[in-house]
This record gives sequence, C-alpha cells and structure tokens, in this order.
Amino acid sequence: MKVAKVIVDVAASPIDSTFDYDIPEKLEHVVQKGIRVIVPFGKRKVMGFVVDLASDSEFDQLKPIQEVMDYTPILTSELLELSSWLQEQTLCYRISALQAMLPAVFKASYDKEVWLIEEEDHLPEKLRDVAQGREVFPFSDLDNSSITHSQVSKYINDQLMDIKYIVKGKNRIKKHTYVEPAQEVHLLMETNENMPGRAKKQKEILEHFIDHPESVLLNDLIKQLQTTRGPVDALVEKGILKLVQKEVYRDPYEGKNEESTKPLALTNLQQQAIDPILDSIESNTYRTFLLHGVTGSGKTEIYLQSIQEVLSKGQEAIVLVPEIALTPQMVSRFKARFGDDVAVLHSGLSAGEKYDEWRKIHRQEVRVVVGARSAIFAPFENLGIIIIDEEHETTYKQEDYPKYHAREVAKQRGTNHQCPVVLGSATPTLESYARALKGVYQLLELTERINDKSMPDVEIVDMRQELHHGNRTMFSDSLTEKINDRIERQEQVVLMLNRRGYSTFVMCRECGETISCEHCDISMTYHQRQHKLKCHYCNDEKPMPNQCPSCESDAIRFFGTGTQKVEEALNFHFPDANVIRMDVDTTNRKGAHEKLLTRFGNHEADILLGTQMIAKGLDFKNVTLVGVLAADSMLHLPDFRASEKSFQLLTQVSGRAGRHELPGEVVIQTYTPEHYSVELASQYDYDAFFRKEMQVRKQFHYPPYYYLALINLSHDNHIEVIEASKKVAQIISKKTNDRCQLMGPTPSPMLRIKDRYRYQCMIKYKSREDVEEALRDVLDHFKKQINQQKLQLTVDFEPYHFM
Ligand code: ADP
Ligand code: ZN
Ligand code: ZN
Repeated sequence: MKVAKVIVDVAASPIDSTFDYDIPEKLEHVVQKGIRVIVPFGKRKVMGFVVDLASDSEFDQLKPIQEVMDYTPILTSELLELSSWLQEQTLCYRISALQAMLPAVFKASYDKEVWLIEEEDHLPEKLRDVAQGREVFPFSDLDNSSITHSQVSKYINDQLMDIKYIVKGKNRIKKHTYVEPAQEVHLLMETNENMPGRAKKQKEILEHFIDHPESVLLNDLIKQLQTTRGPVDALVEKGILKLVQKEVYRDPYEGKNEESTKPLALTNLQQQAIDPILDSIESNTYRTFLLHGVTGSGKTEIYLQSIQEVLSKGQEAIVLVPEIALTPQMVSRFKARFGDDVAVLHSGLSAGEKYDEWRKIHRQEVRVVVGARSAIFAPFENLGIIIIDEEHETTYKQEDYPKYHAREVAKQRGTNHQCPVVLGSATPTLESYARALKGVYQLLELTERINDKSMPDVEIVDMRQELHHGNRTMFSDSLTEKINDRIERQEQVVLMLNRRGYSTFVMCRECGETISCEHCDISMTYHQRQHKLKCHYCNDEKPMPNQCPSCESDAIRFFGTGTQKVEEALNFHFPDANVIRMDVDTTNRKGAHEKLLTRFGNHEADILLGTQMIAKGLDFKNVTLVGVLAADSMLHLPDFRASEKSFQLLTQVSGRAGRHELPGEVVIQTYTPEHYSVELASQYDYDAFFRKEMQVRKQFHYPPYYYLALINLSHDNHIEVIEASKKVAQIISKKTNDRCQLMGPTPSPMLRIKDRYRYQCMIKYKSREDVEEALRDVLDHFKKQINQQKLQLTVDFEPYHFM
C-alpha cells in the first residue's frame, strides 16, 4: 500500500474528511490502520490517525508521512468504523470521535520508552548495541541508531521488545526490583551444601529459592526472611541470584485482594431473567434487554453469571457503572468473582493509571472491564456482552464533544459483535421502559427482593406542618425521634441532603441584596472552610464581605442549607452521635471517598451525611434508617426530567436501608408531599409513576413521544448571539416540516457564564431524517464564525442539561 488516509488533528478544522499521504519506503509495512502519524499540514506538522490504506490516490503529488507515533494499532478496525458512526450520530468532528475512544495519554505530550522483553543474548546484535545492557531506555536512542522502522515493527511483533508511552511529569511507569535465581534449582542446592554454616542469612535465602524458585519482590523477600539487602547482594555478586526490574501496573485497588466468591444458586425469578440473556450469548445474536428490578433483587448476580458464560466462550465483557469512584463496593464484587481478569476505568484515576488499565485491555491481559462512560470504547475484539448498570443515570451522556450517549454506543457495538446489551435499573428511564413495552427491547423483570425481604417502610413528613407546630429545626419530630432511637440501639443512619438546586448563597437581611458572580449571573456559594465565596460555574472567588456592598449593613449572612450546616445542626441536636460528612469538599482528594465509607462500614460513626453521591450502590448491614432532608429541591428545576430524577433518587436512597437482617425505615421530609414523584416513590410504585409521567410527556410533547435536539449558542457579545440564534431559528423553520416543532430562540436559564451570553433553540421531532438537513445547514452556515472561535454553537441530541 502506498497511500494512507489520515484524519488530522486540526482543532475546529472546517475540513473533516480524510487526507491522502504518501507512505515513504522506509515506513512501508510500518504504517497500518489505527496508528497515529505525524504529517505535514500547511506549514505545520500535525498528528493524525491512519484510518485506511489505499494503493493509489486521485490526487497527485502527495506529501509524505513524516513519522509514525505508534508501531501497533491503538484503535481496532471496529473502533475506526465506530468513530465514523459516532461522527454521523452526534455531528461532531471525526478527530474528536477518535480521541474520545482513547485514554488522555494519547492526547498529552509524552515520551516513548523501549522495554526489552527477551533476554539479552537472544536479541539481534543491532538492538543489543543500542540497549547496552539496559532493559529500559529512551526511544530516541533507537531512533538515532541505524535500526529501521520496519525492524522496529518486527522486533515488536516478535515480542523482543515493547514500546510504552510515558506521561510527562509524575505519571511515570513504575518499576520495582525483583530477585530471582540465576541458576537451576539443583545448582542452588549444591551451593547451599557447600556454603559455610556461618553464612546463615545467605543459606536461608537460598533455601527460600530452592522451595520457591520464582521471582519475588526484593522488599517482600527482605521483610519475609527478616534479613537485609547485604546477603542478597552477596548472592547476586556470586552470580547465584539476579536482580530484575519489572513494570508494576499502578493498581488503584492495590493491596485489596478480594476474597473470591462463587456463583450463587439463582432463584427462580433470576433464572427466568437470565435465560434469554444466556440464549443471546449462546447464539451470538445482538439484542437489548432491559433488566428491571428493585434494589436488592439480584441484578448484579445476573450480570456476574452472564459474564461467566461469556468468558467461558472465550469472549470479553464491558460493564458500565455510573461513576466507580462512587461505588467501590460494586467494583469489589467484580474483582471478587473474576480477580485479575478485571480492569477498572474511571475518572478518579490519574492519567497514568488509566493508561495502565487501558493497556491491560489492549494487550488482552484482561477480559472484563468495569468502568464509567468512556469504558464503552474498550478495545476488545471479541465482545460477548455489554452491561449498563443503573441505566437511568445521566452520567452516561457525555456533555462535551462528541455528545454521545453510552447506551447508543453500546447498541452499536452490540450489533457489530452480535452480542447482548443488558440495561439494568430499578427505575429505568421512561425512554427505555417505553421501548421495552413496545418490544424494541426485551423486558426482564425481577419483581421481588432476594429472600423476600420487603422494601423499607417510607414515612413522608410535611415540613410545612412542622413549621406550624413550631419546629423550626431542619429535623422533623419524627426523624429526630428515630435518629435518637437508632443511636441508642447502636444502629446506623444515612442522611441525604439533596443539594441540587439548593445553595448556600449570601444575602443581606436588611435590603435583600445577594452576591452574584460578576461573570455568570448566579449566586456565589459560601465555603466555610476558606471563608470565601465561590462561583460554581467559573470558579471565581471573593472574600466573604463583612458588610453589605449595597446598604453597608453588617447583617449579611449566608442562607440555604449545605451539608456543613446540617452537620453543625446534627452536632447540636445529637451531641452523642458521631457524624461522617461526605460531599464534594470532603471527597475531593483521591481515595477520600472510599476511606470515609470504610470508616462508616466499621461503625466508626453513627450517621453518614451526604449529597446525592451517597444514594448509589452503598450496602451497609447496620443501616436501618435513611432520612431525606429536602426531597423536593430538585422538583422545580427548569428540566422536563425533574420529576423523573426526583423519583429515581428517592427510590434509590430508600433502597439503602434494611438490606440485611435488620429491617429498615425511611423518612422523607418535603414541602410538597402531594407531588406524585414523592408519593409514588414512597410506595415503590414504578408502574404508576411511569403511567402518570408518560401522560405529562405526551401532553407536552417530550421524550419518549418526541426526540429532542438542543442547539446552544454563546458569544461574548449579547447582540451577536441574539442575531445568530434568530438566524438558526430561521434556517430550521425553512428546512423542517410540520412534524417538527421549534422552541425558541430563548435565553438559556443561565443567561451568562464566564462572560459569555447564552441562547438556545430546541427542536422536537419524530424522526432524525426530519431534522438532519436543517441541522447540517445550521452548522454549515456558522462554520466560519465557529472556527474563529467567537461564536460557540453546539448541537446536542438527547440533551440532559438545559441550563
Ligand atoms: P441488585 O444488584 O439488584 O441490587 P444484588 O445482586 O446486589 O441485587 O443482590 C442483593 C443481595 O442478594 C446481595 O447481597 C447478593 O449477594 C444476594 N443474592 C443475589 N442473588 C442471590 C441468590 N441467588 N442467592 C442468595 N443470595 C443472593
Ligand atoms: Zn462565575
Ligand atoms: Zn444590604
């Protein structure tokens, strides 16, 4: 092949097609589909992905590829194709689709290192010359030698060496020193017999290796035999042992060897639910299942046993969970069943750690990946199942380009690999449940909890009544009584403060002045620890004022309820209780989240107080009371999913209580007890909620009755953005038929963020074809302005954020 088709990394390039480049002779056989190359582009040199090869080109005088960045493809053919599907689906640039599939390491600046795999004496002379006894050396040494690119390729294919990317800065690949015998066991025995008795330590070490002739971490050996480095070095010097440097993967779950678990005997209900999934695995047919089951109904066990089946067929599995950093307990269950066969990918990992986990997948060292959204792009080549747990979670939608939904990608990959896709939830999205009822997905129901455990009783407390009775605290009489009761019985309590929509804003009690961000038009939030005001959108900070900037009164206070404030109130009303607070502030350090949970699990505290993050996946034996402090705070957001989200959250947090022997109870405090989200969640009545909410959606033309596309515009000039959004509306009206409805243009609920004015248009439509041309025309029309980066204009299919 003489010609490479390349997608170049040119930010906001108006050109989104492939470019042909000549493959110079020295790079023949090295350039492959799925590698990155450096190519000339205008006056610059840019990175690009080789997406295809051809024997000739319709263009003359092709410029040559300058360099290769990879010697083994980092994207499979399937993923290359998927990137083009993703581009079509989300109307993004192909380059951002490609980049979304890879760990960030491949975007950052990095160095390459050569790691030798084969023993020195088995290496070709040329390579030995460059290595000069080193097992690891900079790639540039190879580059500067007489070794050709095709030789490099060959060395890698022959497994003589490997190339690794080094993230600059602190994320270096970790190496550890191992000790291993340099001689056969019988020689070790001989040496041991001939060694004088006073070399006691050396003899002990030798005996160790006679019994266990395998490689061991130097530090472990020293510790285990209670010795020092001296005797080891002595044996190394005599050529009996040798020291070896080996890569250790940065393992975020290091040192936590899960006790392994065996598949449980499934209940009848579980068996009925898993059979169709196993059928689909057996027959290699794509199908999407919706596994609807209340918390504790045994969904996870079904995932585990389905994966077991996939692995026994020699295939691979992807499991998506909302945000693993938040659910360490979930990860543990997969590690406990499949051990080292599991890679974990989530946003809490450093760039280096993510790269390590990705490499395990790429090198086919693991067959299961448990990860957040982007794990859907795991480079497996023989996928046997894709599972999306808590399918209703909004984190599966990516908010940046490409604005994809992991569920849609899953269905596409499921089709590519002809394997099942399983969506699991106690509270499926209306879209998914409606599809299941129509037979587009196959519905699998688990109607009961394992062991017939009943769901905890839910009491709804009307906080307006509390106020009438003269209770001005944040805790209703009932909740107070129950908390006291649990403390006495040494049981534990989970309290959730639903903070979305709430904030600790600052207001003057004299004149009502509030303090807003100068760039974003929203109230700034008070942070007690630093005694500062912060904007949650742009991160701007201000000192907390001592007097009102408007009337100079000193009666300026912060209002609203934050977790800190609740913690103070808890300490005041329940002085004997230990409280662990879990929110953005206490969990921003790595591992902090897990530590707090472990402490709570060890009963080091009576009350776990937190935001939404505690609603998910937690499973503590001793928790018998769950309290929700402000159940309705998200009911009134400008979002058509507000009721659905409230219902989901309330159902989920209730599921945290009484999961084991002790029965559980739930108290929901609200100012709108009559709202159907609150009422039906307290009765665990998903079906009734679904029917009620479907009526609302039908009436107002929302999904699942209509699809939505949201066009967001922003500009630092208010007039310009109004003009542009009018033009958008004009193009859309002209190009769409009467099956589509255009809403707007309207100012976004947050009119200004980071000094940019924001407007939006929404289209409701029945079929993508009806809007396709109009949206492409819009993007086309504004191409120039977008590229000059003055106007931002994005199209979001299946939008989740309307602010
Ligand atoms: P879900 O994922 O639906 O919340 P889980 O799979 O976590 O449910 O199951 C809830 C509890 O029941 C867990 O402690 C699990 O170990 C247990 N469990 C699940 N299936 C079985 C089974 N077939 N037999 C006994 N216990 C089971
Ligand atoms: Zn701001
Ligand atoms: Zn004032």
